[in-house]
Amino acid sequence: MAGNTWWQGFHGGFTRARRGYLPGRTPVGRLAVMRTDEDSWDINTGVGSTALFVAAARALGGRADDAPARDPLAELFVSAAGGEWADLMAGRLPEHPLLTTDFGIPFQQHQLFRTRYFDDYLEAAVSSGIRQVAVLAAGLDARAYRLPWLAGCTVYELDRPRVLEYKRATLAQAGREPIADRREVAVDLRGDWPKALRDSGFDSDRPTAWLIEGLLIYLTPAAQDRLFDTVHSLSAPGSRAAVEQMDPLPAEAAEALAADGESGSEWVKLIYNEPRSEATTWFTDRGWSGERVYLPDYIRSLGHTPAGPDGRQQSLINLATVTRP
Ligand code: SAM
Repeated sequence: MAGNTWWQGFHGGFTRARRGYLPGRTPVGRLAVMRTDEDSWDINTGVGSTALFVAAARALGGRADDAPARDPLAELFVSAAGGEWADLMAGRLPEHPLLTTDFGIPFQQHQLFRTRYFDDYLEAAVSSGIRQVAVLAAGLDARAYRLPWLAGCTVYELDRPRVLEYKRATLAQAGREPIADRREVAVDLRGDWPKALRDSGFDSDRPTAWLIEGLLIYLTPAAQDRLFDTVHSLSAPGSRAAVEQMDPLPAEAAEALAADGESGSEWVKLIYNEPRSEATTWFTDRGWSGERVYLPDYIRSLGHTPAGPDGRQQSLINLATVTRP
């Protein structure tokens, strides 16, 4: 594959960041192995490390004067991880992949605009009377701490146990208190998670605002359909769901990544790059209403210009909101 394409930047960026891209520095995580149906992780390994990666992008992007959203706790989470993450936050790694113009800046923009989209979604959901929020694959999402409109809401944060442990320990050490009634639900979203959610107080007779951000690509198409089935079955009338979905990488991109071997195959080992149900269609087929927007169009709708060599990195991302009548 000739040239420096955006997907090589994406892929290489994640790989270098995960390995510790400067010789002699502490790697920020162990190298990924191929996914299995029962794999597990913490904040520094496998899919868990992507929570730090996107939080770092949010923290960096949020420093711009014209940032569309800000997440101050992202900086806290990333700095607390130590090693290169802390160096990155402290400005000691000016050549870090998350700062490059071909990959890093478009990726920061992607993260900040999706943050804005889902923040606004939650504000609208609360305005409609919803008081129950379920964040699937919460990772280092800090909305329960930073969105004033979540006061009076119960926010269920679902993720793997060791990711939630890192989050809890970091927040406790910093003495942070949530705005919302925040409840951790340690589950595997590929499995049977409604019982744990209900045991935490979730009431499927009340309308829910579901948030599905940065998750679907880490599920097989079948696991994604099961997750959608579960969301549908737990949703009282008036519920809403907001979903970020990435279209499969083009075949040439997937092949280039797979052929890249040792030097650049970390992120692609974590994802399932297969055709799958499109979220808006899936839900509207079951009586929900809604629409999706592609990220570059959303960025433009807020008066900004999509970053990156040709906007293609962002054009795979779409954001959708659906409502159950
Ligand atoms: N939603 C957060 C955000 O946007 O900042 C985190 C996104 S991060 C890219 C992906 C998250 O999905 C990680 O926190 C990971 O642990 C979680 N995740 C992926 N597969 C999961 C599963 N099967 N069960 C629970 N959590 C999962």
